Amino acid sequence: MIYSDYHIHTSFSGDCVFIPEQVVDSAIKKGLKEICITDHQDFGFIADDILYEIDAHNYFKKIQEISFKSKNQIIIKTGIEMGLEPDKKDKIDSFLSSEDFDFVIGSSHLINGFDPYYPDYFKGKSDEEAFLEYFESILRNLDVCNNFDVYGHLDYVVRYAPNQHKFYSYNKFKDIIDNILSKIISMNKGIEINSGSLRYGLPFPNPCVEIIKRYKELGGEIITIGSDAHNPKDISHSFNLINDILIDCGFKYYCNFTKRTPSFSKL
Ligand SMILES: [Zn+2]
Ligand SMILES: [Zn+2]
Repeated sequence: MIYSDYHIHTSFSGDCVFIPEQVVDSAIKKGLKEICITDHQDFGFIADDILYEIDAHNYFKKIQEISFKSKNQIIIKTGIEMGLEPDKKDKIDSFLSSEDFDFVIGSSHLINGFDPYYPDYFKGKSDEEAFLEYFESILRNLDVCNNFDVYGHLDYVVRYAPNQHKFYSYNKFKDIIDNILSKIISMNKGIEINSGSLRYGLPFPNPCVEIIKRYKELGGEIITIGSDAHNPKDISHSFNLINDILIDCGFKYYCNFTKRTPSFSKL
């Protein structure tokens, strides 16, 4: 069973209105033993007039405070969802060294300046071209950025494609996806299994089941599971299904992190 949700947003994220206390209450009610708060840090990114940047010190202090208050009910880790871009490497490194974070999700949110959440990213290209461009940007990020623990929602671009997953399959992008997975494994990093896509109507988590299976085949062991909840009601969404998928793919353990070091818990 999965007792940890390692991808949760609070009002420190520009796109979430729920304060950390509400998030923690919900996680306790859902019977989780551990959560990691992972608010957005995307340097210089403004969307709908919201800047996706956090004051590291205030954020860290607040999460530590609620972690201490709730320590008899649930373990709360301080994480961040860091938007990776090659030219932001120095800013990322200095942000992460400013506080003692437990866990960092490295995510691709901006691809050549565009966020696939918005239709402009898909303008003038087929869905397949948009997917390939997304995977190529992950490879470029991996060449430069190594300051993360797991790569977030690897094929998240599919959520927002005009035809969603109609023109998507692991096989179509096998070469580049294998390349990405091998690189992540050789860096001793992991991937996250993100159940948010199931709320977007996709029949699979991000990444899709074939990618999870392939990651295992290639020797990948480090996985975290996250709901990507922006609303406390979505915490641990579809974790039973994710548990079954992971066991089918041959996994026996998932990870929690303390001060950027993984520990393994039984599924
Ligand atoms: Zn994300
Ligand atoms: Zn997120």
